[in-house]
Amino acid sequence: IEISNMQKIYKMGDNVINALNGINLYIGKHEFVAIIGPSGSGKSTLMNMLGCLDTPTSGTYTLDGREISKMNDNQLAEIRNFKIGFIFQGFNLLQKLSAIENVELPLIYQGVGTKERHQRCKVALEMVGLGSRLHHKPTELSGGQQQRVAIARALVSNPPIILADEPTGNLDTKSGAEIMGILKELHKNGNTIILITHDNDIANQAQRIVRIQDGEIIEDREVG
Ligand code: ADP
Ligand code: ADP
Repeated sequence: IEISNMQKIYKMGDNVINALNGINLYIGKHEFVAIIGPSGSGKSTLMNMLGCLDTPTSGTYTLDGREISKMNDNQLAEIRNFKIGFIFQGFNLLQKLSAIENVELPLIYQGVGTKERHQRCKVALEMVGLGSRLHHKPTELSGGQQQRVAIARALVSNPPIILADEPTGNLDTKSGAEIMGILKELHKNGNTIILITHDNDIANQAQRIVRIQDGEIIEDREVG
């Protein structure tokens, strides 16, 4: 991941907001990076850029050698489906579907057949400790369990990059620690992990901390 001189400007009537103001950021393979900053500092905007959910006003973003900032919506969707697993604060599970049906969604998009899909989803749910909850709906699961379903959904398609936006924000301390444990495990298994947070204790569990304020990186250091 290589971001160079990235700017994102939001225009609201006469109001011009420099949400990202010249970001330079390199994230290598297999890194575990926390992006930290106060509310309004530009974290979500940067997350949207990293996750190919939006394009910058100016500057460049290359992922795996491909220039992202000039891509159209279809190309962006393809990158998202194959390169990135998303984990959100609010889990973003479909309430009418069971755990395993939620985890199946990315594989359905990828056109994976029923039998293989089922097998891979089972393995993913077992990996996050939910092997005995395959057919539970989100309302029948605790918050920590719902986030683990979301992690299974993020990792079932084997994306190299996991992008987690405040993944422990809605959880109690114990469930949050379990989620961080799973992210560390994924990192050990070779994933690149990018974690967005406003919590110093969470950020300190990463290998590297990038601090953002007013749309600029004000600190970038290794933890340890
Ligand atoms: P954080 O995630 O750190 O709270 P954001 O990236 O959400 O920060 O916001 C950075 C700045 O950009 C804020 O001033 C916010 O009000 C503004 N902003 C974010 N999204 C939009 C948008 N869609 N339209 C207009 N302004 C926005
Ligand atoms: P905790 O957050 O401490 O895990 P919960 O009461 O939310 O506590 O969950 C305890 C267990 O009960 C979980 O394993 C979950 O799968 C199950 N469970 C929770 N709510 C329901 C429900 N409404 N229907 C069926 N099972 C449930």
